Amino acid sequence: MKNLIVVLSGPSGAGKGSIYKKISNMSDRTVRYVSMTTRKQREGEIPGFDYDYISIDEFKERETQGYFLETDFYDGNYYGTPRISNIEELGKDVFFDLNANGAMKIKEAYPEAILIYILPPNLERLKRQLGNRGDARIELAKAEVPLALRYEWLVINDDLDRAASDILSIMEVIRKSRMQNSENQSFVKQFY
Ligand code: 5GP
Repeated sequence: MKNLIVVLSGPSGAGKGSIYKKISNMSDRTVRYVSMTTRKQREGEIPGFDYDYISIDEFKERETQGYFLETDFYDGNYYGTPRISNIEELGKDVFFDLNANGAMKIKEAYPEAILIYILPPNLERLKRQLGNRGDARIELAKAEVPLALRYEWLVINDDLDRAASDILSIMEVIRKSRMQNSENQSFVKQFY
């Protein structure tokens, strides 16, 4: 069956990273597509899993060479999604963790991509979960969250296990029910 492309977005502190880790423990058919960034590695982050950390010069050079599918400048740092030569060959459901600008660009390149916006249950929780990532992140969240209305799916992260299984349920519904699936098209065709 065709692999899915899933984009997880949401304000910093919404728990996208933890949710993906949970999903990858619950399903062995997922892979995380790793972005490149010029931001400093945070404690607990793993190079090559969370991000590939590069210098601004290297980022700019790769950007000029057309290495990225999309890039964005966010909270003082550059982020970029490397071009994907053949997403099918990855052989698994591919997860991206991108802000809204990145998500919209992935949707343009891959219209079948599933865009999921993740939010904590309320603003207080968001502030708490942002911890020491800085007040600028709250302002950035307030600016970005209205874009959530352009997404197809909303998952509220009040409980990590439930948020992860909600996402897996969305994926299963899409995998089974999307009319564009060749199995579904053949099924429909038997009736005419
Ligand atoms: P953080 O610094 O908290 O890891 O990420 C900041 C924001 O950048 C998050 O909203 C994250 O989803 C987004 N982001 C991470 N990688 C990329 C990327 O390659 N492209 C875009 N457009 N956004 C990204």
